[in-house]
Amino acid sequence: MTQTSTASKLPHFITALPGPQAKRIVELDHQYTSPSYTRSYPLVAKRGRGALIEDVDGNTFLDFSAGIAVVATGHCHPEVVAAIQQQAAELIHMSGTDFYYPNMVELAEKLAAIAPGKSPKRVYFGNSGTEAVEAAIKLARYHTRRTKIIAFYGAFHGRTMGSLSLTASKTRQRKGFGALLSDIFHAPYPNPYRCPHGQSPQTYCTECAGFIEQELFHKIVDPEEVAAIIVEPIQGEGGYVPAPREFLIQLQNICRRHGILLITDEIQSGMGRTGKWWAGDHSGIEPDILCIAKGIASGLPLSAIVAPASVMDWPPGAHATTFGGNPVCIAAALATIRLIEAEYMENARRMGDHLFGRLRGWPGEFRIVGDVRGKGLMIGVEIVRDQKTKERAPDLRDRIIYRAFTQGLLTLGAGENTIRLCPPLVIDEQQADFAVRVLGESIREVEKSL
Ligand code: PLP
Repeated sequence: MTQTSTASKLPHFITALPGPQAKRIVELDHQYTSPSYTRSYPLVAKRGRGALIEDVDGNTFLDFSAGIAVVATGHCHPEVVAAIQQQAAELIHMSGTDFYYPNMVELAEKLAAIAPGKSPKRVYFGNSGTEAVEAAIKLARYHTRRTKIIAFYGAFHGRTMGSLSLTASKTRQRKGFGALLSDIFHAPYPNPYRCPHGQSPQTYCTECAGFIEQELFHKIVDPEEVAAIIVEPIQGEGGYVPAPREFLIQLQNICRRHGILLITDEIQSGMGRTGKWWAGDHSGIEPDILCIAKGIASGLPLSAIVAPASVMDWPPGAHATTFGGNPVCIAAALATIRLIEAEYMENARRMGDHLFGRLRGWPGEFRIVGDVRGKGLMIGVEIVRDQKTKERAPDLRDRIIYRAFTQGLLTLGAGENTIRLCPPLVIDEQQADFAVRVLGESIREVEKSL
């Protein structure tokens, strides 16, 4: 970062937005890159340090998106950079599919140790979240010799054909792509803010879990044919909705009763973001397959699934990928885990409590804030047109996000109408307070215009 930009931990602009360089690159981007990408505002990143991003014109921003919840240790943490540089000078690639190298087994051992449950574990490596989910689908089918999988409305598990079959957060993500995997069923996910009329969150939670045994298992699918139930302990792309603790426990019980594997997708919620290694740890559940990606390597592409050795029983050749578990990505992951363990998981818990403490009263303060929810540094602010009807207000949400950008705060949407706050785990109180101020002012301004 430049001298001026490092002088402060807060944003600083030297041009109007977007600046001339940013404008030029956005124009070229529109000409050459896939129109399927969704960009909410013209941020053209050049450098990052900690929770700050400097754009191509020298303006700095506070990053409360972390590259979609990825840069857990902040942008370019010196220890992560050093680990990457050292490994890149030594061995960039060998393919863990066909050869051995030491840091692959070191990371597998570490992930096995921090995964929930005491049974001996084994680890499979991929490159992205969707690859972890594909691996989980295949392992669950292979191990159980069953084919059917239950996922939830609102879920996001990725965009390749297998994971997309489980994804049910936005029609647009599926539209036009033809037949997906068969044998996939969706059940309701208990969003306490959106219980059906007259129901308490408690009864709705029980009803959602009950739907699986009383409806699906009675009318549509025999549980003996179900390989797995896959759940995000906190729905991410679906709107930052934490599953009630009892719901996750009930799911685990259903799985145990019927010999079904419980898969937790912690791709967004894991790696210390919620103040514990895994969001499911807040409920004490022990998944049979744990999916990890995003925050694991502070920005390098890496994913993993972790399962008890008794479950990961597929033979050589059953599943693999050339780049999965790349030595440089693994070096970044080992440094990332050391840092999260030493300080950032605790910081995520503290800063999450601080942020939540400042935000939780917003539904009383702003008439377009319907709900504030989350754990640690995974917080959603749901924007509605009317608090009584809870009508979703995606247009207002988008305006708030854009306005926050113009004030130096980078956020993303989640679901139809929620603002997601998922900063790097390194933020401090001054940065948290800046985000609260800018977001609050942005909401106020949009509210005033109505
Ligand atoms: N699962 C969850 C919970 C996610 O949030 C995501 C990405 O946002 C994925 C899976 C897919 O990960 P990727 O985009 O790396 O394929």
